Amino acid sequence: MDSKMIINSLRENRKPYGGNDLLTEFDIPIEELVPGMICPTCQTPTMKEKFNSWMCEQCYTFDGNAHIDTLVDYCFIIDQYISVAQAQWFMQISSISLTHQLLTNLKLPQVETEKGLMYDLSPLITSNFMTKKEVKSALAELFK
Ligand SMILES: [Zn+2]
Repeated sequence: MDSKMIINSLRENRKPYGGNDLLTEFDIPIEELVPGMICPTCQTPTMKEKFNSWMCEQCYTFDGNAHIDTLVDYCFIIDQYISVAQAQWFMQISSISLTHQLLTNLKLPQVETEKGLMYDLSPLITSNFMTKKEVKSALAELFK
């Protein structure tokens, strides 16, 4: 995973969901974003895959929904659409195939763009998306 390439791919043609580009508005360079799944307890971006879920390496909190929260943040802050490589970088997942499975597992719509195949994250924001329980069982399914 080449994070420099990923960051470069995010410099232009971003469309954050809802139309507010906070990074531009607050003049925050994209390279200053710290990627990683945020722990709901200690707020550090150190959640990693562990025992069919995500575990914080700092405080050992488990959260089977950490990837959803992270993708929702991405959708609002960076772009409504995400590639597998961008998702792997932003969530700091160990393998590209696990990242691919994760996005497929969420049944996100796939969109062919000039940048290649992207996943539309907007269903994560709407109320008819999976419940937290459904997300957890889908995640457990993935690690079998
Ligand atoms: Zn933590």
